[in-house]
Amino acid sequence: MNASFAEDGAVLRAIALDAERTYPCEGCGIVVQRGRVARAIALANVHAAPERHFEIEPVGLLRALRAAEQEGEVLVAIFHSHPEGRARLSREDLARARMPDGSPAFPGVLQVVVSVRGALARELAVFEPVEAGASSPERIRAWRPPAASAPGRTDGRVRKVRLTPTDASER
Ligand SMILES: [Zn+2]
Repeated sequence: MNASFAEDGAVLRAIALDAERTYPCEGCGIVVQRGRVARAIALANVHAAPERHFEIEPVGLLRALRAAEQEGEVLVAIFHSHPEGRARLSREDLARARMPDGSPAFPGVLQVVVSVRGALARELAVFEPVEAGASSPERIRAWRPPAASAPGRTDGRVRKVRLTPTDASER
């Protein structure tokens, strides 16, 4: 499993920023990586009810994957946000991650979920890939922005987010 992007504050910040930018709709995108260098690519959410669901715009996704492949990058994660929701995988998220026969829809690909409240990213969680026959994927990383009283976050509309690890004991 290639999870080194989960240690990369710049990548996590980019994901959190996209979640704030797209609020009150769900933001979504992918993380691609080459060696230990990862980047987040925000993609359009074309679901008919984007406040509660997401569907990555397929042409944009294909283009991004093709461009990444040409750079030698591989898909390592899919991210999306939960406006006014928690940083955990929903039943729908889990169902989406599996094929009808129960096998993983995206083998080896991690999932990132961002909780956004009041247009501010509050928590970001990274989940291990769905495995065939296994139950819910485990959370392998959680990041949380500083308190709302921190400098630069007081007006509720600030675009800059700094995330810090919440639990050093996690892998
Ligand atoms: Zn979700």
